Amino acid sequence: MRSILRGNLIQAPALGQLDCLPGGCLLLEDGVVRGVVPTPPEGWQEVPVTDYGNRLILQGFVDAHLHGPQYPMLGTAMDLPLLEWLERYAFPTEARFADPDYARAVYRALAADLAAHGTTRVVMFSSLHTDATLILMEELARAGLWGYVGKVNMDRNGGKNLQEDTEDSKRETLRWLEQCGVFAPQIRPILTPRFTPSCTDGLMAWLGALARERDLPVQSHLSENTGEIAWVRELHPGCAEYWESYAKFGLWNGRTAMAHCVHSSARERQAMREAGVLAVHCPDSNINLCSGVAPVRRMLDEGVSVALGSDIAAGACLGMLEVMSQTVRASKARSLLTDGADRPLTAAEAYYLGTTAGQRFFGVGAGFAAGERLHAVVVDDNALGPASGLTLPQRLERAIYRAGQAEICAVWAGGRQIGGQRGFL
Ligand SMILES: [Zn+2]
Repeated sequence: MRSILRGNLIQAPALGQLDCLPGGCLLLEDGVVRGVVPTPPEGWQEVPVTDYGNRLILQGFVDAHLHGPQYPMLGTAMDLPLLEWLERYAFPTEARFADPDYARAVYRALAADLAAHGTTRVVMFSSLHTDATLILMEELARAGLWGYVGKVNMDRNGGKNLQEDTEDSKRETLRWLEQCGVFAPQIRPILTPRFTPSCTDGLMAWLGALARERDLPVQSHLSENTGEIAWVRELHPGCAEYWESYAKFGLWNGRTAMAHCVHSSARERQAMREAGVLAVHCPDSNINLCSGVAPVRRMLDEGVSVALGSDIAAGACLGMLEVMSQTVRASKARSLLTDGADRPLTAAEAYYLGTTAGQRFFGVGAGFAAGERLHAVVVDDNALGPASGLTLPQRLERAIYRAGQAEICAVWAGGRQIGGQRGFL
């Protein structure tokens, strides 16, 4: 069935480039984008139109790094650096997901919250619990979201409540993969060794072989914090740099997403570029845990792919518009720290990183991506101040800095409306 969405269309086909079409038309056929045009073409004149008037129609937001089981601690526990924070707060919070009923209630609320904030695709960590991970995938699918979700592997350094036996970890990973196929293609699995200190060499090697055998993507953490990097050096004295502890086990390729990369050296960044590894920048988290300020401009200049993540709950903002403004602020802090050598990012660049750069990890092209199911967020910026006299790029910038859940009036994911005037799930 054909339909048309009409409104002020703003897409980011490339870093720093905005394509704006005031009062434009998004042509849809069974939820798949057929074109972005000023007026309905021949054969589309009689097609039903959803007219969003003067509102902004943005690309769906991609949250490329977040931890589902940390949602209950969102906005709390901001007083420790990474390793202590994991042990004191994150691990005990995640341990509660051994209880499927608890997982169901939390994940239902999280999925609704993500949709309400305009996040339409996620690349997400679950906990090590297989049943809770399947529940998370089910709840995301039920809310209409799309994404990759990983059962976490961790067979060392998790304390007594959050650690698997190596053989259990392998067996549970296979059980999870067997059962999660029902959510594809909407919600798909991604292998998730928590980070190098959490996984023995034997488990890492097994995961690398599994990724290759089943052609699965991989997510983990990289060079977030200096204490963590020193620990990895102790654990892997044969690796000159952190990334090698993944690469040597086959966990480093064009389907790998690595969160943070705050302290990645020039050589580590080069290894990312050459392998096509995606760096996921999580600016709020990096400040909250006093990790540092990632050299995003430098990575982009060097040709490294960068997307954005909320990294809840080390990050306290679930909404990607806020993560985009945090990205611009963090880049300014970085500019100050480097005496202007690292130029700040613009709002338009942050919009690209939070949309097109993230959707590329899903194999989807730029902008509203003709031939793909529509992912879009409709923003009513009426309450943010007068729109008259502002250009569409200015209204986008204002939305990034000022819009929240209240301004998001409709959300489309996978070619269908998942929230908005008819209410969110
Ligand atoms: Zn993380």
